[in-house]
Amino acid sequence: MAWDFETDPDFQSRLDWMDAFVTDEVEPLDRLGLHPYDVKNPIRNTLVRPLQERVKAERLWACHLGPELGGQGYGQLKLGLMNEILGRSSFAPIVFGCQAPDTGNAEIIAHYGTPAQKERYLWPLLNNEIVSAFSMSEPEGGSDPLTFRTRAVLDGENWVIDGEKWFSTNARWAEFLIVMAVTDPDGDPYRRMSMFIVPSDAPGVEIVRNVGVGSMQDGSEGYMRYTGVRVPNDHLLGERGGAFVISQTRLGGGRIHHAMRTVGQAKKALDLMCQRAVSRTTREGPLASKQAVQMQIADSWIELEQFRLLVLQTAWKIDRYKDYRKVRKDIAAVKIAMPRVYESIASRALHIHGALGVSNEMPFIGMITGAHVMAIADGPTEVHQVSLAKQVLRDFTPSNELFPAYSLPNLKAAALEKYGEALEGLEALEAAE
Ligand SMILES: Cc1cc2nc3c(=O)[nH]c(=O)nc-3n(C[C@H](O)[C@H](O)[C@H](O)COP(=O)(O)OP(=O)(O)OC[C@H]3O[C@@H](n4cnc5c(N)ncnc54)[C@H](O)[C@@H]3O)c2cc1C
Repeated sequence: MAWDFETDPDFQSRLDWMDAFVTDEVEPLDRLGLHPYDVKNPIRNTLVRPLQERVKAERLWACHLGPELGGQGYGQLKLGLMNEILGRSSFAPIVFGCQAPDTGNAEIIAHYGTPAQKERYLWPLLNNEIVSAFSMSEPEGGSDPLTFRTRAVLDGENWVIDGEKWFSTNARWAEFLIVMAVTDPDGDPYRRMSMFIVPSDAPGVEIVRNVGVGSMQDGSEGYMRYTGVRVPNDHLLGERGGAFVISQTRLGGGRIHHAMRTVGQAKKALDLMCQRAVSRTTREGPLASKQAVQMQIADSWIELEQFRLLVLQTAWKIDRYKDYRKVRKDIAAVKIAMPRVYESIASRALHIHGALGVSNEMPFIGMITGAHVMAIADGPTEVHQVSLAKQVLRDFTPSNELFPAYSLPNLKAAALEKYGEALEGLEALEAAE
């Protein structure tokens, strides 16, 4: 029977190497005011490229990919353990070649792209020579793709795209954007939209503004306007009308990868909380000696451990079934749990740090904002709750009985039917005695 929670020693030594490398070499990059995705910044490249080479030499580059795409084919479970380490740092995913949204974009080009699309966009993307953006959500609403308005109309050999998109992350650095647009407005609702690879320098592609998350001044969430943008027919990604299916392929993997990195962030918050608890003293001793603080630490540890096991088990199922459709329920559960666990642990860590906790000298406000981002990006919590509940309910069939079969009188009647004879025999025996 295989039911094992241990990391094999060989892979643990890889994780130990990563842990030290991220702490010593990568996390300091987070503090320099550079942006990990700014691939045209020579200073960023001077610092990042040698680290990427070391990761490649260690055979840890792009571990989310199979060997045919230059990855290691480790699978999602190992990637989950790695992402717990990478999640601590904003530069680490870039240094290890597994950063969102490029991972998801690469995944769909690898899956649905033509050889020419792969040549022009996929290989440079996988090598982090360029970065990309995913342009799906619209200012009028992102949760329900059936409300999207951006249109693409075929004009001879070109598609002409018109519309606005919102929160196209990293558009300002992207070489290309994958744009979802309505191509068949009167068709089947789930076949109305198609995906296009749109070079960011195509005439008519405009960044209206770069929106920041939280109090960030210099944001990277592109508010995009596409005005008469012409792309050749061969820039259609996948088949016409295939956008819905393609986006589900993309988002399934993306959501679990966010969750893996969130485990790393939540662990960081818990570590800071514990460090503060043992270090800060009151007249009666350290904060760690107070029951109220101990309860917060215990609750945080349990929440994190439960979440981590759910994430790793889901990753294991993806490896096992090799079909995202079979883990939709699990991924929805992970997506729902992720912001709750992250926010509750980060909030406690903030509180135990007192004034320092709310200051801009600690990461907690950013973490709490990050938890809200996790509850919205890739679809809001409510949509995933509905999806999860529907899948759970699928195993149940309606019944017209006034008192259900599992009501206590019915259960007793069923038990008597099964064992009544033996019971009568026993009573007769007792009466005879
Ligand atoms: C940091 C960040 C990065 C992002 N990156 C990208 C990106 O790269 N590319 C991209 O295309 N998009 C991106 N998004 C957009 C994201 O996918 C959308 O924000 C998300 O789908 C929600 O859409 P919305 O913001 O328009 O909210 P709305 O659709 O307006 O929903 C607002 C709220 O209404 C409620 N609600 C909506 N629908 C339902 C429902 N069916 N049932 C119950 N309640 C509901 C929920 O509380 C929801 O939070 C990003 C978002 C964030 C925050």
